[in-house]
Formats: sequence, C-alpha cells, structure tokens
Amino acid sequence: MLSGKETPGAVDNQQCDTYAWFSQRAWVEIDLGALSFNVQQLVKFLSPRTQLMAVVKADAYGHGAVTVAQTVLGAGASWLGVATVPEGIQLREGGIKAPILILGAIHTPEQIHAIAHWKLQPTLCSPKQALEFSNTLEAINYTSPLPVHIKLDTGMSRLGTNWQEAGEFVQLVQGLPHLKIASIYSHLATADSPDSTIMEEQQRRFQEAIAQITAKGIKPPSLHIANSAATLTNRALHYDMVRVGLAIYGLYPATHLNKKIRLQPVLQLKARVTQVKTIAKGTGVSYGHQFIAPKEMRIAVVGIGYADGVPRHLSNQMQALIRGQKVTQIGTITMDQLMLDVSSIPDLQEGEIVTLLGEQGKEKISADDWANTLNTISWEILCGFKHRLPRVAVM
Ligand SMILES: *Cc1c(COP(=O)(O)O)cnc(C)c1O
Repeated sequence: MLSGKETPGAVDNQQCDTYAWFSQRAWVEIDLGALSFNVQQLVKFLSPRTQLMAVVKADAYGHGAVTVAQTVLGAGASWLGVATVPEGIQLREGGIKAPILILGAIHTPEQIHAIAHWKLQPTLCSPKQALEFSNTLEAINYTSPLPVHIKLDTGMSRLGTNWQEAGEFVQLVQGLPHLKIASIYSHLATADSPDSTIMEEQQRRFQEAIAQITAKGIKPPSLHIANSAATLTNRALHYDMVRVGLAIYGLYPATHLNKKIRLQPVLQLKARVTQVKTIAKGTGVSYGHQFIAPKEMRIAVVGIGYADGVPRHLSNQMQALIRGQKVTQIGTITMDQLMLDVSSIPDLQEGEIVTLLGEQGKEKISADDWANTLNTISWEILCGFKHRLPRVAVM
C-alpha cells in the first residue's frame, strides 16, 4: 500500500481496479473533490434560473464519463451533454438517469431507435432530420413525444439550420407528430477571444431568431448558447442553461478569463520510474540520439510514452515533477517510455512516482503548458490520453 496523497480515496471500478492501479506503470488520476468544487463554483456563478449542463463528451474530456457524470450531478449539474449516441448509451448503462442531450447530428434509423430506447435527447439540425425522426418514430409506434433540441447556426458554420430560417424550422418541428421541442440552441465560434465583436453578432442573430419564432405564435422553450468561455465572459449569454465542458475539468478557456472564478484542475498524469542509471558525457539518449549528454548525468527511464498520449512533439521540450522538483525530459519520447535528467536527485529510486501533469508541492505543470509548447489548446491535450492509462478516482 502506498500512503498519504498517493492512496486513492475511491477507485473507479468501471475503468480500473485497485490491483491494476498499484501495478501500473502509468495512470491518470481524477480528483473528484476538485471536480465537485468546480461545479459548485459554476453553480454559484449562475443565476438560480440557469441550469448547468456538464459536457461529458469524448469520455468526459478523457476523465472517464460515468464517474464524472455521477460526480457532477451530485455537485449541482442537472443536464449532461455528449457528442454521440454510444456516449449517451454508456452513461445510461452506467446507471445515469439525468437528461442527456446528444450534441452531434443523427443520421440513421438505428440511431433514432437507440435514442428512443435509451431515453436520450437528440439535436435536430435540419428539416430533413426532423422528418426522419418523426417518420421513424411513427414506424415503431412510439407513443410519448420525444424531446428534441433545435440547433441554429448563428455564425459557427457547423451544425444547425441557418438562423434566418429559425421561424419556419421551429414551426415545422412543432407540427410533426412524436416530437416535442425541449430547447432551442446555438454555438459560439469566438467566445474565448478577448474581442467580443463576433460573439455579440451571434447573440444578436440568436435574439432575432427567437423573435421570428415568437412571431409565429410559438413560445420559445428553454434557450442556450454559452460554452465555458461564454459562461465566464457574459451573464447575458447564460439564458436558461449553459453547456460547460472545459471549466468543469478545472481549466480556463483563455488566460483573460483566469480571474472570473476559481477552478482546480481535475486531472493529473502520473507514471513510475522504471530504471535509473548514470551515463557518461557524450552519450546519446533515445532514438536518433536527439539528446547528447553534455556531462556525466543521472537519468531516469519512465514508463509512459506517446502510445499513452504524451505527444512525441514534446520531446526535449517538457518537464516533469519528482519529489517536488522540476526535472527536464531528454531525448525522443518513445512509444512506451521516456527519459528524464534526474542529476539533481542522485538517490532517486526505481518505482518512484513522476508527475507529468499536475502538482507536487509548490511546483505545477498544466495542460496549458503542454498546449502552449505544442501550439494547440488544452481541450486537445485532455482528450489525448489513451485507454491504456487507467483512470483512478481520488477524493
Ligand atoms: C463541446 C461543446 C460544448 C462545451 O465546450 P467547452 O468550451 O469545453 O465548454 C458546448 N456546446 C457544444 C455544442 C459543444 O460541442
């Protein structure tokens, strides 16, 4: 048994077991306390009439969908958002009862059958899809009306009916049997930018679409448009619900939003030292000898690599934490292993834990650090951890 902070308070039995964790060379630690904290901070930030949808698509941004869903629902979220039908089914099979919105488009009768069977709620992006839903539900004699969500394109140019056609689209769906409009929503393209010009134009279009719908004599149901960035940026974008992904995982969508609320990163990436050795000055390290020891060095081999989701592009550009100290990664990152310069910790032992993302004492390495080095976004970093890494829940 390990002790103190290294002992998991709760182990996610669905995605790993205790034995697997203690024997693992590398794993992802999910801090459920931090996850609850982030959700509570968001709920406090919202007005009481605004619901919180936790977006748990892509296996909850790599954190483990079922465990995350249970925790966020316990902390004050009331809806879940996923991208695909199988993601929704996974939550239902995991015992989740909360309403689940599928944010992606649906294309086949089989998917519609599954949605009806598992009580998932689809997004309707076009009149054609609305008709397919209605006809398919008619064919299976579906009795109770299926709640559906109307997606409007107000400037993202991704899914949705163009906002100018909102009135006609909503009127069509309203008239179709077996469907009941549960919400009308849109998605913002530039919410994380400090320049809000485009976002404001999207909001203006959304308002105009709602006015068209009202002009048809239809009282608009629930409305929502905000992702994490918009939620933190402007309360006028909250409407009846916000759809928050990144922020519940404890990361900020942009640096200018860092001060809006306090968030704690939920995910830590850890691995074990598998071998420690001394190499002579001039010795090459790893494939291609991209690193040559400038002096005699103590190096550690760590049991994690790009097949686990540590991007190979970080080779010779990343750091890690051992015993509260920052150490430098050296040589090309390989499929299953990478090397560190541990000359500053001469008595380092095999089996010790290395934090690749997370905190040790005063030192911290965040997904934003990796994203900056790689010229990408933290969302992509979080989604990059492979299933070979067990997800271990800690409190
Ligand atoms: C992924 C997604 C979100 C969540 O976005 P974050 O920036 O992670 O908060 C919200 N709405 C839709 C439609 C999405 O696809």
